[in-house]
Amino acid sequence: MKIERLNVGWFTAAAGIFRAGDDMDRTIRYPVLAYVIETETERILIDTGLNPAAIADPAAYYDRPDVFAVSTPEQEQSVADQLDVGTLTKVVLTHLHWDHVGGLRLIPASVSVVIQRAEWEAGHDDAAVQRNFFLPRDYAEDGREVILIDGDHDLLGDGSIELMLTPGHTPGHQSVRVGDIVLGIDVAHFASGLDDHRFPVFADDHEQQERSAERLCAMRDAGLTVIPGHDPDILHPGVVTA
Ligand SMILES: [Zn+2]
Repeated sequence: MKIERLNVGWFTAAAGIFRAGDDMDRTIRYPVLAYVIETETERILIDTGLNPAAIADPAAYYDRPDVFAVSTPEQEQSVADQLDVGTLTKVVLTHLHWDHVGGLRLIPASVSVVIQRAEWEAGHDDAAVQRNFFLPRDYAEDGREVILIDGDHDLLGDGSIELMLTPGHTPGHQSVRVGDIVLGIDVAHFASGLDDHRFPVFADDHEQQERSAERLCAMRDAGLTVIPGHDPDILHPGVVTA
């Protein structure tokens, strides 16, 4: 099974927003990633990155002038520029933040999406949308099949890819285990966050996020490789190996 990491954008923001305790007068440029998992019969996309139309004119695309008030997005290549998206068999969304779901519209609507029910329901609840900075245009109905799962889930039924409910950053955030590799996604933006719990200052529930980090920490301590969500020092495009 092959896992490839793609760079599907960047965002630049004050360091203290995405790691509690860091300076607010220094900025960091964070990579936005997507992953492609290839098996003999499947080509599964994990997250979709930024949408070029949203970056070109965010205020118009989202009908919100202040949409990127605290972070500045950029993109060199979208997911569709780097992949033949017509060959995908599934999209797994780890959560509904714009840097993960924005590119969904670039994937043919015939490709189904797999997401935690808690996340999908939050994405359709006004209070949760506000609290989590979701942008519903990113995941508005387009006729696509949406497969809702509840908790940990054996994606292919053979134990090879496990979706793990790791809530806190958002209500139904999920991580993905493929063999010895765990895509922790935004349980921790930085690798160090698994231990120091210096998460972004915003979250749906920081206590849940700590428990999710402890869960991933235990997997790492048992010998698995846990990959964080946006760590600029280690997340370079290419084939991921344990
Ligand atoms: Zn993110």
